Amino acid sequence: MGRNMIDYTRHCGFNFDNSYLRLPSALYSQCMPSSVCAPELVILNDELAQSMALNFSILAQQDLAMLFSGNHCPQGAVPFSQAYAGHQFGHFTMLGDGRAHILGEHLTKAGDRFDIQFKGSGVTPYSRRGDGRATLGPMLREYIISEAMFALGIPTTRSLAVVLTGEDVIREASLPGAILTRVASSHIRVGTFEYAAAKNDVALVNTLMTYALNRHFPNIKESSNIAVAFFRTVMSSQIDLIVNWMRVGFIHGVMNTDNMSISGETIDYGPCAFMNVYNPNTVYSSIDHMGRYAYANQATIAQWNLARLAEVLLPLFDKNIDNSIQFAQEILADFSELFQQKWTQMMASKLGLFKLESGDAQLISDLLDWMKKNNADYTNTFRDLSQIEKPNKNQYHSKEFSKWFERWQVRRHQNKQNLKLSTRLMVQNNPAIIPRNHIVERVLNSAIQGDYIPLFDFLAVLKFPYKDCPQSMYLMPPVPDEDVRQTFCGT
Ligand code: AMP
Ligand code: MG
Repeated sequence: MGRNMIDYTRHCGFNFDNSYLRLPSALYSQCMPSSVCAPELVILNDELAQSMALNFSILAQQDLAMLFSGNHCPQGAVPFSQAYAGHQFGHFTMLGDGRAHILGEHLTKAGDRFDIQFKGSGVTPYSRRGDGRATLGPMLREYIISEAMFALGIPTTRSLAVVLTGEDVIREASLPGAILTRVASSHIRVGTFEYAAAKNDVALVNTLMTYALNRHFPNIKESSNIAVAFFRTVMSSQIDLIVNWMRVGFIHGVMNTDNMSISGETIDYGPCAFMNVYNPNTVYSSIDHMGRYAYANQATIAQWNLARLAEVLLPLFDKNIDNSIQFAQEILADFSELFQQKWTQMMASKLGLFKLESGDAQLISDLLDWMKKNNADYTNTFRDLSQIEKPNKNQYHSKEFSKWFERWQVRRHQNKQNLKLSTRLMVQNNPAIIPRNHIVERVLNSAIQGDYIPLFDFLAVLKFPYKDCPQSMYLMPPVPDEDVRQTFCGT
């Protein structure tokens, strides 16, 4: 391009320490992003950069574009793609990063380790028949939703930058190519373990487990049975994650085992969307014909995915396979009760109840039944209830609702804490703003036409989901002809 490469590492503060490359080489392939012809920066997340002790402010636009397209590789980075497998809609497949490169692990002085990964950066040894590329719409979609999830307080991978590649990518039409820079506490998936097991190499599974444990759960190193403790911890963080998804009406859409992160972060934003009208069977993904990944099925699927992880870990639980199977069954049998407990506690918080009392589960399910029957908007109903006054909208004027409301008031007065604290608890758990699908689609369409203002405005609002928002267009569920009920994988 006729420009000398600048010293990104020194200027931006990168500190690469690629611990994954010290693992057996079966788990990855070193390979470079393919260069692109005319990279152009679309968006850079300065706040995220700051929280990673990185500073891009002295770089010119052109240098940023060269960096985040993978055209220029900073000193110390040794890009690689990860091998993994996965159960996709229940079927086992060997996969791997087919269009992603980890630029490196950035280690801060505070000891935080971040994978910095390009998505859409060209073919890798795992591309199979794919072109290794991504398009602007889906990469911006991941940016919007992952950053919204972060602001909602839900563990997630994050988005540092999006660049246009200047190249067209052929999908259902010719679309603008783009690369997302994703930041994750790691990219180790349930599918990474399945890959190691598929190599018939117990030592490899053990090495991977020890690595994941040191990286994510160092405090359980002292347990008497490390593999069992590891599995329990992964299960517990998955339960916390799904409970959080349920809280805000999030539907991941493609909970294959390769899209479930061991760290407990939400990963791989494809056909995901937030529910508008409350209906437990809500599905957005165009390929999820059977509703396998429907809103209310997500806990069951997490448990199913964890069973796949348990199968891989069996040889590590105990030397005796029968004992191992018993360990796995016992832990997995706890899933439903643990989930139910945490889910009920979470729903109670959404209703401003601190400590669970008998009858609370009924109070919650009666409200949900009413919401389903009346096509109530999930987000707005809970937000309406979080106001000090009784909500005065037509939809709440029925006898049935008033009766429920009275019961709830009586129960709220049984809290040891006063009503003000109860309302605060509600406001902290019931967002006003979620990235509603019709708005996501609208801002993406504008961006693809070259107008980024709606995207930037939307991102600014999504930063403060629990604050009252004066711009009603972000609060309103879609009217019928605005509704976008299908999402796509976006490969
Ligand atoms: P996903 O459905 O996004 O989780 O992707 C499933 C698998 O397909 C992963 O191994 C991806 O790396 C791979 N993949 C998706 N899109 C492409 C592409 N355009 N080229 C190569 N591999 C891809
Ligand atoms: Mg994936």
